[in-house]
Parts: sequence; structure tokens; C-alpha cells
Amino acid sequence: MSNNENFAVAIDGPAASGKSTVARRLAERLGLIMINTGAMYRAIAWATIQKGVDAQNTDAVVAMLDDIDVSCGVHDGGSTILIDGVDPGNALREDAVNALVSKVAAIPEVRELLVAKQREYLTLGSLVMEGRDIGSVVFPDTPYKLYIDASEEVRLARRSAEGLADVVSKRDAEDSKRKASPLIVADGATVIDSSEMDIDEVVETALQTLKKQGLFVS
Ligand code: C5P
Repeated sequence: MSNNENFAVAIDGPAASGKSTVARRLAERLGLIMINTGAMYRAIAWATIQKGVDAQNTDAVVAMLDDIDVSCGVHDGGSTILIDGVDPGNALREDAVNALVSKVAAIPEVRELLVAKQREYLTLGSLVMEGRDIGSVVFPDTPYKLYIDASEEVRLARRSAEGLADVVSKRDAEDSKRKASPLIVADGATVIDSSEMDIDEVVETALQTLKKQGLFVS
């Protein structure tokens, strides 16, 4: 799986399924670095807005990739991303980014660039990495794979409780239908349906599942 002893816990699932919170809690509990790959795709979408590049124009987005510096790091146990040295911060969650991110994420060259950076993180330590294709594409050989799901109704309610008007169903449809690395349940992944669970229950179920998959949990 890697050129050293480090390993990755892969967590995939649709938007607002609770996977980010679970990933963060698991990383704290297991002492692993937490990598949010959605932020990386969001940062590229944000960059198109900053540069005035039409995110629907694949050639223009691909050309932009040569013009920007995408720097991925770790701070306080979690992933960071800078575009030309600038941290987009809360702008990554804005509606304009929500509306564009699935379009840039469907571009194979964008995925190639970001997947390489995601794999590089393994040289820094063991990881909990969350996204859409972590168990299927980024780390297909890891034995530790979870797919966190929730009903569409619950996911929409969670987003609006956060005060966000994110149209998760539209993004999910785009993410599931695209040709390049669509959102799927990866081979070997265990599905956890979080619709009826609170966050503590999801974390506990995730820990028990990872133990069954062979992870040492003290
Ligand atoms: O996880 P989050 O909702 O922040 O992800 C934003 C978008 O980034 C997703 O809707 C998807 O289009 C894209 N994404 C992806 N592959 C990943 C992570 C996110 O295509 N591994």
C-alpha cells in the first residue's frame, strides 16, 4: 500500500452524510492526521472564481492549473491548502463554490493533480482521509474503508441546521454520474447509515468496524 509503515483510513460518502465530523473524531481518537479532500477540490473551484476562469470550460481550467501554485500541508493535525500562498478560509464553503465544485472535480486533470498530492500525505504519517474516491482510487489497497451514508432528507436537514443552503442532491447527482472517479461504495468498504444515529453512535460504529477490518484500536 505504501513505501513505509504509514496507513490510510478511507472515508467516503455523499455530501452532508456526517463523514467530515466522523473523520475528525476518528483522527483525534486514533492520533492520525485528518485530510479533508473536499477542501482541495473546493480550493480549485475558488481559484477559478478568483482568476475569472469559466469553470465549465475544461481547457481553461486545465490551463489555469499551470498558472497557480497549489500547496498542501498540515497544521494542528489537519490538512491545509494554499492557492498562490493564500488560504481561502471560509470562502471554500460559499454558495458560489458549492455551485462550481462538482464541475471542476469532474475534470480528470484536476483529479490527477489532487490525487497525487493526497497520496503524498502518506509520507507525513498515518491518515484519516475523507472524500468521494479515497477507498476506490486514492488508496484502493487500504484494508480500512468506510462509506458513511444518510438519507437525502437527513442530509438536507443537517446542511440547513448549519445555516447553509447547499443543494446537496444536485452535487451528489453530479458526483455519482461523472466518468472520472464517481462516488461509489469502494470494494471492501463497510457502509454505515448515519440517518438514525447521533454523532457519538456513528463514531463508535466506525471504530468497531475498523477493528473488524483489522485496525489496532487501543
Ligand atoms: O466533501 P465536500 O462536500 O467538501 O466536497 C466538495 C466536492 O468536492 C464534492 O461535491 C465533489 O464534487 C468533490 N470531491 C471529489 N472527490 C473527493 C472529495 C470531494 O470529487 N475526494
